[in-house]
Order: sequence, then C-alpha cells, then structure tokens
Amino acid sequence: MALDQPIERPRAGSDWIAPDCAGMDFYTADRGLRDLLAIYLPPPVLDHLTPHYRHLGRLAGGRLDELARLADRHPPVLHARDRFGRDADWIEYHPSYREMEAIAFEQFQFHAMSHRGGVLGMDRPLPAVAKYAFQYLFVQGEFGLMCPISVTDTSIHLIRTFGSNALQDYLLPKMLSSDLSTMWKGTQFMTEKAGGSDVGAIETTARVLDGVWRLFGEKWFCSHTDADVALLLARPEGASPGTSGLALFALPRRTREGCRNAYRIVRLKDKLGTRSMASGEIRLEGAEAYLVGQQNQGLKQMIEQVNLSRLSHGVRAAAMMRRCVNEALAAARGRTAFGQSVADFPLMRRQLMKMLVPAEQALSMALGTADALGRGAREELRVLTGLLKLRACRDNVTVATAAMEARGGNGYIEDWVNPRLIRDAQVGLLWEGTSNINALDVIGRAVGKAAAHRALHAMLRGRLAACGVLPAAFRNALGDALDRAVALAERVASQGQETLVRQAATALYDASSAVLLAWEGSRPGADARRTVLSRFVLAHRLSPADPLAPEEAAWERPATDALLGEKSLTLNEAAALLT
Ligand SMILES: Cc1cc2nc3c(=O)[nH]c(=O)nc-3n(C[C@H](O)[C@H](O)[C@H](O)COP(=O)(O)OP(=O)(O)OC[C@H]3O[C@@H](n4cnc5c(N)ncnc54)[C@H](O)[C@@H]3O)c2cc1C
Repeated sequence: MALDQPIERPRAGSDWIAPDCAGMDFYTADRGLRDLLAIYLPPPVLDHLTPHYRHLGRLAGGRLDELARLADRHPPVLHARDRFGRDADWIEYHPSYREMEAIAFEQFQFHAMSHRGGVLGMDRPLPAVAKYAFQYLFVQGEFGLMCPISVTDTSIHLIRTFGSNALQDYLLPKMLSSDLSTMWKGTQFMTEKAGGSDVGAIETTARVLDGVWRLFGEKWFCSHTDADVALLLARPEGASPGTSGLALFALPRRTREGCRNAYRIVRLKDKLGTRSMASGEIRLEGAEAYLVGQQNQGLKQMIEQVNLSRLSHGVRAAAMMRRCVNEALAAARGRTAFGQSVADFPLMRRQLMKMLVPAEQALSMALGTADALGRGAREELRVLTGLLKLRACRDNVTVATAAMEARGGNGYIEDWVNPRLIRDAQVGLLWEGTSNINALDVIGRAVGKAAAHRALHAMLRGRLAACGVLPAAFRNALGDALDRAVALAERVASQGQETLVRQAATALYDASSAVLLAWEGSRPGADARRTVLSRFVLAHRLSPADPLAPEEAAWERPATDALLGEKSLTLNEAAALLT
C-alpha cells in the first residue's frame, strides 16, 4: 500500500505550474558522476556496480524521495516510558523512515560496504569512491538518514582500527549485519554544553567500578540518539585536563544481559532541518562502557571518525547541490514567463551557472577526496577533507536558496522539495566542526604544522601536467592560480593570520577543484565540458574582479549554452571555449 498519494506529473494546461524532478533517474541524468566513476573505478567494478547505481538513481528520484518527504513531515517522537511504566525512553518513527532504513541498511548495506564482501554481490569491500558515489545518489533523495548510515560505517571503522580483539568480536558481527531486526547501528556523541568546538572542555567522567568503566555526565547533541552503540569521549578520573586527558569509549544501548544501559534520552531537539532523524540530549547515569584503544589517545582516535564524517558531509553537500541544480533546471525549463521559457533568459542562465559551477566543483572535490582515501594518500586526504567540508557545505547553503528562487514563489512552499533542501543544508555548517573550525584546522594544522599541502600540490601539478591536450595558456593560468593559492595558504599559516584562514582555504579549494575539473574533462571518453567548468572557476573565483566595472567575457555566453545544454563536447570543441 502506498504511504502517500502517488506523484502524478501534471499535464500542460491550467494545472501546469512547472515540473520538478519527480520520477527522474539521478544516476543516468548525471553525466559528470558517470564520467568520474569511469575515471576512478576499475572497469570490472564499475560494470558490476552500474545496475545498482542506476537502481539507486531511480529510487532517489522516486520512492526514496516520496519517503523522505513523509519522514520530514512526521519527525520522530520520544516516549519516556513504555506501556508498563518502565523508563524505556524509546523513539517512535514513522513507517516512511523505517522503509528508508530498509533501503539503506538491508538492500544497499551502506554501513558495511567498506568493511566486508557480500554487499551488492561484490566479493570484497567496495573502493572508497564507489561507496561515496552511493552516498551521493542516496542523499539526492534523503539527507537525514545519511547521518545514521555514515556514523554506523565510521563507528565500525573506529572499532576495527582501535578496538581490542574482544571488543571487535563482541560488536562487529552485530554492527556488520544486514538484518535490521537484530543489527546494531552506531553513532558518535562528542558535543557537550560546555564545548562543541572546544572539545577539551568536555566534562563527562569515566570511573572504573567493579572492573567496569562507568560514565557520568551529559551529552548535549546526540544525533541518531537511540543507536545501539555510541562512540564518545570522556575523561577518566584523575586524567589531565584538556584534550590530552580524554579517552574514547564505546557505549552500548543495552548491556550484555540485554537490559537498558544506565543512560537516558532526556529530550529530542526540535530542529530546523534533518527532521526525519532523531537528535537528542542524553544523561549518563553510570552507564557501562568499553574503553577503545589507548586511554590517552582518545581524541586522536576520535578524529579519524570526525574526518571520515567530514568527507561524507562534503559528499552530502555535493549531492544536495546536484539535486538543487536538477530542480532549478526542471523548474526554469518548464516555466513560461513573458511568453518564453524562463530558462532562456540570459540573466536566468547566469543564475543557473552560479548553481551548476559550485555543484560540479563539489562533486570533483568529493570524489577526488574519496580517491585520496582509497589510495592511502594521507597527506592529500588531510587537506582535501577539510577544504571539502568547509567549502561544499557553505556553497550548499547559497545554492539551496538560489534553487528556491529559480522556482519562484512555489519554491517557498512545502509541497516542493526546496524548503527541505534549504533547511537540511544549514546543518552542514555545524556538525563535525563549523566553517571557522574547519578552516583553522586545514590552514593552521594541516598546512602550518604538518605541511600536508605539499603532497596535494604535487598531486595537482601532476594532474595538470597530464592535461597536455588543453590549450597551453589555459593550463598555465591554472598552474599560476594553484601556485598562488598554495603560497597564500603557506603565508597565512606561517604568519598565524587567523582572520584570513577562510579566505586561504577557499582559494585552495577553488584552485584544487579547477585543476581537477580540467584534468577530468580531458580524460579520454569524458565529456570535455568539465574543462569549461574549470574556466568558470578560474575566471570567477580565482581572478581579480572590479565590482564597479564588471565585464562579461565573449566566451561566457557560448560556454553557458554548452553547459546548460544536453550535448557533451569533444576536446576540440571545448578548446574553443578555453582560449
Ligand atoms: C542538528 C545537529 C546535530 C548534531 N549532532 C551531533 C552529534 O551527533 N554528535 C556530536 O558530537 N555533536 C553533534 N552536533 C554538535 C555540533 O558538532 C556542534 O554544534 C558544533 O561542533 C559546534 O559546537 P558548539 O555548538 O558548541 O558551538 P561553539 O563551539 O560554541 O561555537 C560557536 C561559534 O564560535 C565559533 N568558534 C568557536 N571556536 C572558535 C575559534 N577558535 N575561532 C573562531 N571561531 C570559533 C564557531 O565557529 C561558532 O560560530 C550536532 C549539531 C546539530 C546542530
């Protein structure tokens, strides 16, 4: 039985407003994604996974999208007690959320993809790029549930990496299961009232009683609140203040005896977005927990999870921007004003480009970062992750608002997906570190202390050198911009210019994405329009502009026509737009 009225596409006539993306196949429609997968994945893996991508692409534009709309309208409800009056603090979810969970954890097994074979018929774990491409497609339909999915995946990673053999034996079979009725999902509780950014201010304490670690305190932001295992930081009694005294613990919701563990979900947050998923506050009342890894390495270990989450957040932002672009194109092409299609007005086309360019930059950076993870290129990964989290999540907010405006007044109405996209986009600025915190981390630590940007610079220079088919002047301009962005990051880091870290990180993001776009677009078989996107980044994000003397260069209108059209370009055709 359908949970909601099926979506019927309106026919032209009096009830015609403008179409949306209902029923669209987000995989087949996404030439950029398909090209990047062909670049990054071995052909047999891509051949094997393509039917699954196609299936998820159709789900994301169809059933998943319908379910997401319902789950957003029927958020979870916390019940303090069960019907017998026991303090069960259980959360009631709408059936639409449960159906989405089944798609994620049973059908596609996102949480297990990186960790074991047997997912989607693969005999080994999926490459990182393949996994994040699945996340990218899923999030175009539903955003909120990606938090529980991703944090289960990253919790498994942490336990596999740092947990004792006994802890792994206890938790991993349950967490890697694909049977929702018995599986254990994971989450991560770090933030407290006293500190989100300032992790060293954490007040939760850990004490050994009768040989068991017990936790006391409160966690203030707990997404996926009722997860079966939460990874969290606490300070063992007697440990030093600040971050060095924090230890990492795994907190099961139920004890080995099957009883409720000694912590309570006190309240659910009434959130602006991600309304399908429960975020709450918990009070730890002597809950039993397992120490994970070395006691004095808690934060260092937890940062592994934080960084993987940041990568996933970048992927999610890229996905939501893609959805925004698809919606804006559908609306603008279908809407008539002043006797012509709105999508034909030059001013509207410029606005569409302002959405398309950051969306494609984010896709390139997201899969480029996933590729660095897959190659084990730790230094590249260190810088790329922070840049992606910072910039893609920020751009998502602007793009979501622009997509609303492209739909006109209807974009403000909850019948359409735009309000949800706007609400959901905001949280990307907050969780796993605000924009300031990510920029400080990238420029201050990754560039300033670890000099990790040198590996990134070398990799990007190598990619540029492999773009010999592109016009030399364009390649040189890209190379100059990259070198200048690197020099800016180094100067800001070495001089401790805290106020400029966001500017420096943004420049590095733009330069990196411009190089990646050019490289991707010049690969054999790829749509060379990606090289033209690179030129837009170069011209509008990396070149000086006088706001009082704006100019539209001659190449921009034909380049816009090419990028907003359906037809791919050959390298020769693209070259004409690069000089
Ligand atoms: C919906 C939602 C779900 C969440 N889920 C979780 C979860 O599951 N687990 C979890 O652990 N956390 C979660 N969080 C918490 C989130 O990670 C924090 O809110 C975030 O890290 C910011 O911390 P804070 O709220 O304490 O803000 P603060 O740290 O108080 O920051 C306030 C402002 O100060 C700025 N600031 C702080 N320090 C500096 C500095 N040194 N320089 C410049 N500016 C600075 C920040 O950028 C920010 O603008 C969630 C948050 C939300 C909104």
